[in-house]
Amino acid sequence: MARSSAAASPCDLDREFAPQIAQLLATPPLQSAQEYYDELIQSKKHDGIRVNYNGEHGKGVFANKDFDEDDLILKDQMLVGAQHSLNKIDCTVCSYCFRFIGSIEFQIGQRLYLQSIGSSIGCHSERHCHGSESGSSTDSPAATEGNSDTLPQEVIESLITGETSLPFSDHFALPEIVSCHGCDEERYCSQSCANSDWESYHSLLCAGSNTEPSRRSALHKFIEHANGTNDIFLVAAKTITFTLLRYKKLKKHPDFQAGSNFSLLMEAWKPFSMGFKKRWWDYIALPEDVDASGEDSFRQEIRDLAFKSLQLLKDAIFDAECAPLFSLEVYGHIIGMFELNNLDLVVASPVEDYFIHIYDLPDDEKDEAEKVTMPIVDALGEDYSVNCDGTAFFPLQSCMNHSCCPNAKAFKRDEDNDSHAVIIALGPISKGDEITISYIDEDLPYEERQAELADYGFTCTCSKCQEEKPN
Ligand SMILES: [Zn+2]
Ligand SMILES: [Zn+2]
Ligand SMILES: [Zn+2]
Repeated sequence: MARSSAAASPCDLDREFAPQIAQLLATPPLQSAQEYYDELIQSKKHDGIRVNYNGEHGKGVFANKDFDEDDLILKDQMLVGAQHSLNKIDCTVCSYCFRFIGSIEFQIGQRLYLQSIGSSIGCHSERHCHGSESGSSTDSPAATEGNSDTLPQEVIESLITGETSLPFSDHFALPEIVSCHGCDEERYCSQSCANSDWESYHSLLCAGSNTEPSRRSALHKFIEHANGTNDIFLVAAKTITFTLLRYKKLKKHPDFQAGSNFSLLMEAWKPFSMGFKKRWWDYIALPEDVDASGEDSFRQEIRDLAFKSLQLLKDAIFDAECAPLFSLEVYGHIIGMFELNNLDLVVASPVEDYFIHIYDLPDDEKDEAEKVTMPIVDALGEDYSVNCDGTAFFPLQSCMNHSCCPNAKAFKRDEDNDSHAVIIALGPISKGDEITISYIDEDLPYEERQAELADYGFTCTCSKCQEEKPN
C-alpha cells in the first residue's frame, strides 16, 4: 500500500530542505540507536529489559531477568501525548501527567456543565467530521451524552465550586488544580507538572493573555482547526515544540557549542527519530465509503488537510533555525508515527471507583448515600464514568513487537493513575526471551487479525498464525 504521493508537494520547505529532511527521517544507524536505548533504560532504571536489534523484526524488547505471571515488566513514561479533544468534556486531567484533578464533585459537575453547553454548541457535527477525515484505524472517541438537564444548574454549579460535597468523596481525594499562569486551557495536578509542561511544550503553545496577540490568534486558529478535524494535529504540534525547545536548550549547553545548527536539531529530534514512521496519507486505510477510483483524491485531501494544519502552526511558532522541522514531509511522518505505533493513552476514572464504593456500602449507609448520589448517576447517564483517553508516544513500549500469543500486555493496575504505559507479564518469561504484546484483539480469526495488522504494515508470522494459516 506504500505509495509515493502523485502530485508534487505544496510545501516549499520540502524542496528547499530535502537533504536535511531525508536525514531527519532516515532510520538511525544501529549503533547510535542501541546507545540511545541503553542510556534511556539506564537513566530510567528499567533493569528488567533491554532493547536489542535482530535481522528479522528490527528492534525488539527482551527480558533481562526472569518474570513470573502478573509481574510488572515496565512503566514507560511517554515522550509526548495529548488527551482527545472530545474527552476533555468528560474528564478534567493534568495536562502533563494526565492524573484526574480537582475532586470527585468537580469531575462530575464539570462534565455535566460541559455536556449541557456541548449540546447547544453542536459538537455532534464535529464528531462526524472527526471520524471521516482522520481515516485512521483508531476511531476517534466521542464525548458521551448524559441527561444533564435532569439536574438543576445550581446543583451542577455547586458541585464545581465545591459548595456541595458528596458522601464519602473524601476517600477519593484528588490533587488540587493548578492552572497555567497564562491561559485557562491547561490545568495541572501540581506546580511541578505545570513547570515541566511549560518547559517541554506549553511555553510555545500557550494561547493565554501573556502571549503576543498575533501569535495568540494564530494558535487559536491552529487549535480550532485541529479540534474540528483531527486532534492528532495537537500531538504532532507538541512533538514539534518538544523538539524546538530541546534544540534551544542544547544550543545553550557548553557540550554542544561546536556543533552546527542542523546537528543540534538532529540531536534534539533523536527521541523521535527512533519511532517507526510512514507518511500518514500514503498508508492510512481507505474509509469504506471511498472506492478505488477515489483513492488518489482521498489521499490528496488528507495531505491537504495536514498542510492546512501545518500552515496554521507555522504562523504561530515557526523558527527559521529549525525550518526542516516545519516541512510537510516531517509533519506527515510525525502523524504517521502516532498512527502506526498503537499507543493509546488511558487513565482510569476515579468517579467509577467512587460510585462502586457507594454501591458496596452496608445497606443502611448505602440507602442514605444514594439519596444524594442517585440523581447524579441519572444525570450522568449510562456511561456515568469515562476514562481519560488520548494518544501518546511511549519510547520503550513502542519497541515491543506484536504477537497473537503475546507473553505480556499493557494493563493499568489500581495504583497506576497517570499516563505511564504499564506492561505486565501474562505468564513466566525467562531472561533472554523477547517480550511481546498484542496490537489487536488476538482472539479474532486468522484472516481478521492479518487484515488489522496490515494497517501496521506487516504480516504476522507468530506461532499462532503459523498454526492457523490456511494452506
Ligand atoms: Zn500532573
Ligand atoms: Zn497556558
Ligand atoms: Zn500472529
